[in-house]
Amino acid sequence: MSAAVPRPYTGRFAPSPTGPLHFGSLVAAVASYADARSRAGRWLLRIEDLDPPREQPGAAASFPRVLERYGFAWDGPLLHQSTRNAAYRAALEQLRGEEKVFPCACSRAQLEKAPMGAASERVYPGTCRAGLPPGRAARSWRMRVDAVTVAFIDRVQGPQHQDLLRDVGDFVVRRADGLWAYQLAVVVDDRDQGVTDVVRGADLLSSTPRQIFLQRQLGAPLPRYAHVPVAVNTAGEKLSKQTRAAPLPMDDPQAVLRAAWRFLGQEEPMEDFTTPAEFWAWAIPRWDMRRVQCGTAWRAEPGVALGL
Ligand code: GLU
Repeated sequence: MSAAVPRPYTGRFAPSPTGPLHFGSLVAAVASYADARSRAGRWLLRIEDLDPPREQPGAAASFPRVLERYGFAWDGPLLHQSTRNAAYRAALEQLRGEEKVFPCACSRAQLEKAPMGAASERVYPGTCRAGLPPGRAARSWRMRVDAVTVAFIDRVQGPQHQDLLRDVGDFVVRRADGLWAYQLAVVVDDRDQGVTDVVRGADLLSSTPRQIFLQRQLGAPLPRYAHVPVAVNTAGEKLSKQTRAAPLPMDDPQAVLRAAWRFLGQEEPMEDFTTPAEFWAWAIPRWDMRRVQCGTAWRAEPGVALGL
């Protein structure tokens, strides 16, 4: 086997347009951007618009505008997952050809009876693994999971492992409603965009073993992972559209960038910044992933969580 050619650092920020960007989104964006730029790496912006029924009108269009206001500069054009059908289909065909996926006829009601696993999701009971029950039609496609423990070292959270079959089971790659599953899309896009470093919120930590399993099955290179703590509000809930997190304000981005920087445990700036560009010029050379505290959730400063 020839030695692998090192791939240039490529990071990405991949928000879903289910609502406006909020402080929690900014934390993930700041961490991935600072990590990429401090290593002279590329940084990509990908809009994860896989699920039209969950999309909020106007959200996707607002992302580049808001990120520009916060001084982020991405490389190359935006990638919309809604344009990537052919790539996802090709990946599914490859997996089908190798019998690594199987059709599943189970209904939601049937699956809701399955026990919960350690990843806080229902574990697929294997019903259609050996073939569809007589007279039943395929609804979704599932990845056939081996009895393996997937292990990786997260740059923030340390060594991780998951017994995929026991904790998750055969997982969906194409949903019963015909939409592509996040797990498949993210792996195909990270592969095709040459992503070497995934820096994102720790709410996705339990998805990573599924993604690593898929990368291996597709023969895709494995990126490094860093999962930064997610911001929670005073009730301990992750900031999100559901918890009515305030959209990022457009009037004083430096102040919010500073709060995200502090949330990430980074060196406290002594100076004031009058523009995001000034903040980034100061921040990028000082970024230190080792300062990000290990832990999956931290409370955001109240003013930030509830809207400035
Ligand atoms: N689209 C996902 C989200 O908004 C992030 C996916 C990822 O970073 O892998 O939560």
